[in-house]
Amino acid sequence: MIGIFGGTFDPVHNGHTHAALSVAAELGLHSIHMLLSARPGHRAPSHTSNEHRWKMLQLACADHDNLMADDRELQRPGTSYTFDTLAAMAAEKSSANEDKSHPVWILGQDSYATITSWYRWHEITNLCNLVVLDRPGQLTSEAHNLVDFFAQRQCKKIDHSKAGQMLRLALPMQEVSATFVRQQLSLGQSVSDHLAPQVSQYIKQHQLYITTESIV
Ligand code: ATP
Repeated sequence: MIGIFGGTFDPVHNGHTHAALSVAAELGLHSIHMLLSARPGHRAPSHTSNEHRWKMLQLACADHDNLMADDRELQRPGTSYTFDTLAAMAAEKSSANEDKSHPVWILGQDSYATITSWYRWHEITNLCNLVVLDRPGQLTSEAHNLVDFFAQRQCKKIDHSKAGQMLRLALPMQEVSATFVRQQLSLGQSVSDHLAPQVSQYIKQHQLYITTESIV
């Protein structure tokens, strides 16, 4: 059983890796694809180039056997739609005749609250099971139709032989965001508590996020 944790990772921080590892431990997932959203359709373009974000993601995953940096959205031209990614993964799996379990798409509540603006969002939920994480300090209100949608699909335990289930997990998360990290770096403050050492080193070496334009 695999998990997928998508993000712009601008930059990847310990909140991301901690969240992915916590869900893997809680649900017994053998690996999590840390999927770089290269050209997201539902949010502003990232502050840093795809190349830098990809390199930082690889560095952050290097110390964790069960985290796999995944560049399939970088390799695919055009907008990085989650629906296309999940459909491609499902097609790969069926042609390889691999195990029949459905992937778990993991996302923070702030990101989940925007899902109705994602391309073919109803269908996304039929290609995977969704795990929504409470994120400290980032509670975003959810539209009524989304609350109802969730209520119809929520489960207490995921049955990996099926898709379309939703689970909220209230695991302890780290209170950090990439926006905060960029902000601190632009002010010349240390954020080493929130970044893998190799990622900190990379940011220093390439002098990333040193201007105020790189914050929001
Ligand atoms: P930004 O501040 O630029 O919006 P971010 O820190 O939210 O960035 P993203 O790459 O946008 O990071 O998020 C990728 C995914 O990680 C989203 O589903 C988001 O909700 C989740 N996430 C980000 N930070 C945390 C955290 N500290 N704990 C749990 N989930 C997180």
